[in-house]
Amino acid sequence: MPETHADIREAVRKLCARYPGEYWRALDRERAYPTAFVDELTRAGFLAVLIPADYGGAGLPLGAAAAILEEIQAAGCNGAGCHAQMYVMATLLRHGSDAQKRRYLPAIAAGDLRLQAFAVTEPDSGTDTAAITTTARRDGGRYIIRGRKIWTSRAAHSDLMILLARTALPDAGARRTDGLSLFLVDMREARGNGLSIDPIRTMMNHATTTIGFDDVPVPAENLIGAEGEGFRYILSGMNAERILIAAECVGDARWFIEASTAYARDRVVFGRPIGQNQGVQFPIARVYAGMRAARLMVEDAIRRFEAGEPCGAEANMAKMLAADASFEAANVAIQTHGGYGFAEDFDIERKFRETRLYQVAPISTNLILSYLAEHVLGLPRSY
Ligand SMILES: Cc1cc2nc3c(=O)[nH]c(=O)nc-3n(C[C@H](O)[C@H](O)[C@H](O)COP(=O)(O)OP(=O)(O)OC[C@H]3O[C@@H](n4cnc5c(N)ncnc54)[C@H](O)[C@@H]3O)c2cc1C
Repeated sequence: MPETHADIREAVRKLCARYPGEYWRALDRERAYPTAFVDELTRAGFLAVLIPADYGGAGLPLGAAAAILEEIQAAGCNGAGCHAQMYVMATLLRHGSDAQKRRYLPAIAAGDLRLQAFAVTEPDSGTDTAAITTTARRDGGRYIIRGRKIWTSRAAHSDLMILLARTALPDAGARRTDGLSLFLVDMREARGNGLSIDPIRTMMNHATTTIGFDDVPVPAENLIGAEGEGFRYILSGMNAERILIAAECVGDARWFIEASTAYARDRVVFGRPIGQNQGVQFPIARVYAGMRAARLMVEDAIRRFEAGEPCGAEANMAKMLAADASFEAANVAIQTHGGYGFAEDFDIERKFRETRLYQVAPISTNLILSYLAEHVLGLPRSY
């Protein structure tokens, strides 16, 4: 693994140059998984940067993962096929047992196992995670999982899944999130043992699925941490997830800005480059400023995360500001390209659809604003 972030970024750029727009457009048409791209990232060790060196990874802190994902997006590629391995890693490293780490991490680092699926959302719970109804019932040396998940991305392309399920109802007066537990599910064993995976076709190529658990047995040793504490564990992991998605959005914004400025310089209408008009320049300049500001917030959140400091507010703000910057930059890119912004061959419309997701997932903008209002500004909880 290259030593500095600058070297890591350079190496990622080189790798991504082998996966140009044609590659992503072909996958997008078929809604196919970017297997060659993910395999090459894996072989290069980029998806194992957060795995400690003792387990075969690079043992780097979160900032390295953020640099990798930002560069992937800035190159016009899409890390959504593989980013989960990075953002679930914090949960496994902080709360997994030594035995779990020894059993799975070296194989993940070597590229023999994929941990790309994170199953929290359910059809009827939506953002209200405490309302999930998938259960894990203890039965001797195993748990029996029953229920349904939705939007479990990459499940069809992953060997392992981190699953949130209810092991007990909360005691009277306890928090609604008590009694939720986390499991590391080996989908190679669960397939054909009650696990079903059905793809959902979405507006962008995202390999997302619904999952059915029809009494799927999971060995008790695959419980992560203590029973009933799962929600607390995913909260700390969610900060990593938000920071990494924010880094991806910064990368997307950079790609749109680069595409817009290049086009505005070259496209001549009325005998001059369209970029000579302030009406074309100013929106691009404004989204550039927005991208830079969002990037500062991402850097602040990373610094706090790496120092082990509370970073919920910064991770949420980074995610919201970066998602806004990328979506605004996408919109400006379409406007700058005029009709060509809608043509597949320019990749703008594809990236536009891809980056739109981050207004909603993994957490919607409204819920971030509610978090800030309640936890930072001390306003009454609205829901
Ligand atoms: C492509 C894709 C991939 C995904 N991948 C995964 C994955 O891998 N794993 C996983 O677990 N989940 C995944 N998700 C789920 C995603 O995290 C949720 O869609 C998201 O959290 C929103 O939940 P919901 O869709 O149920 O919306 P809902 O909770 O039903 O909300 C609908 C709308 O109402 C708003 N809203 C709801 N409550 C309030 C409130 N109290 N105040 C103000 N506004 C409110 C929301 O902001 C939202 O705009 C994915 C989703 C998509 C679309």
